[in-house]
Amino acid sequence: MPNCPHCETPLDEHEANRCLDAWVATLAGWTFVGLWDNDDASEWVGDNPETGFLKGIPHYSTDINTAMGLLLGLPDEYEWGISKLHGRISCQIIRMVEGEVAWHEDKAATPSEAICRAFIAAKGTNDASNSD
Ligand SMILES: [Zn+2]
Repeated sequence: MPNCPHCETPLDEHEANRCLDAWVATLAGWTFVGLWDNDDASEWVGDNPETGFLKGIPHYSTDINTAMGLLLGLPDEYEWGISKLHGRISCQIIRMVEGEVAWHEDKAATPSEAICRAFIAAKGTNDASNSD
């Protein structure tokens, strides 16, 4: 189980917040820049992979529409589901590769948080040689 690159919190204990959003963003193609301070507030920003411009990173972990975009953007070899069974919310992401099934499932307080955790688990082990 990987730890957050920003706050070191283990994935299965990470709350839905901007730090989790930033972790997801880097795996979704964003180049995370950091906290951007302006007159009103500070915002977590990065380079948007589609435009190349600096922008506030999406609120993946707290906005269900944004979180669903992560799942809908996965390549065809991925299958996924979101469920609430026996009171437990979880997201499953499955990747079929050369007959091997990579299964990632995580439980969370909300569907968007569950999607973020499963997305990180799936991307972290499938797309990179992440040993820890
Ligand atoms: Zn964190």
